[in-house]
Amino acid sequence: MFDVTWHNGISVSAPGLNIILDPLRVTKASDYVFISHAHMDHTNAFTDSSKIKYATPETIALYEAITQKKVKNTLPCVYDKTIEHHQTTLKVIKSGHVFGSAAVQMATKDVTFLYTGDFNYVDSLMQKAISPIECDVLVIESTYGRPDYIFPERNLVYDEIVDWAARTIMEGGLPIILSYPVGKAQELTKLFNMYTSIPVVTHPSITRTNEAVNRFGQSLVYYDMAKEGEELIRSKSCVCIYPTCYRPNALRCVYPDSKIATVTGWALSFGKRSADVSFILSSHADYAQLIKFVEECKPKNVYTVHGFSEIFAHKLCKKGINARSLC
Ligand SMILES: [Zn+2]
Repeated sequence: MFDVTWHNGISVSAPGLNIILDPLRVTKASDYVFISHAHMDHTNAFTDSSKIKYATPETIALYEAITQKKVKNTLPCVYDKTIEHHQTTLKVIKSGHVFGSAAVQMATKDVTFLYTGDFNYVDSLMQKAISPIECDVLVIESTYGRPDYIFPERNLVYDEIVDWAARTIMEGGLPIILSYPVGKAQELTKLFNMYTSIPVVTHPSITRTNEAVNRFGQSLVYYDMAKEGEELIRSKSCVCIYPTCYRPNALRCVYPDSKIATVTGWALSFGKRSADVSFILSSHADYAQLIKFVEECKPKNVYTVHGFSEIFAHKLCKKGINARSLC
């Protein structure tokens, strides 16, 4: 009823609907495309104007803010609103990963299918955690699907980040945090807005994504580093958010008094690398949350994608759950 294969993306054949979910590249294999969120490893299909693309309005706006290009041929999906597609219904739900991110539920009279996209199973300052849905077929991301990836309590990590930034400023330094422009950049902006009086200065790429998020009713406060933020940086009385494509050593050449932080779940394995400090803050579910989510969805068949997909599928099989890695 729901035939799931890997074809440079998750290809799903359902009654009256051939759809590919988060394709890695433009493909002719399906009539429709679903794009779960605005991280660049999920948005390649936005460049294909010939395909009809399902995505949330928030994801479309964030992609356009990042690329500064208009997307054509989209079908914006509102959370929790059912779309009829011949014998199959389609509904997107919040996945808790980043602003605008969505999981997609597809259902026929007899079978329910769920694709999580990237997801988080704890609340953050910006997103509520995904809600599990009982389903027959579950396609789940397994980025951190190895048992040693267990993240610390989120509020404790928030405290550590704020303490580090305040201490750096008091010692005469400039705190710089490297972050994805979509997701943690908004979470960090909100963290400093809510719990400190430290101004947030943003790289122009993050200014654009914060602006896009504010157009949907958020009220993030930040200063672009090329405009009002310039003087705040000079006086070292702010926290700066730069995209992760910047290298710490290159930033130290520009800002000799800076202290540089990374925020990622991978810090559990790789530490701070060339940064001064790393904080274990992830927009993904950790291993324990992945297991709990699968158990609460009660699927008959599970397909794992991304990250430790083989290991995670093997762990599920040992628990008596029918699972295999899709890619
Ligand atoms: Zn993502």
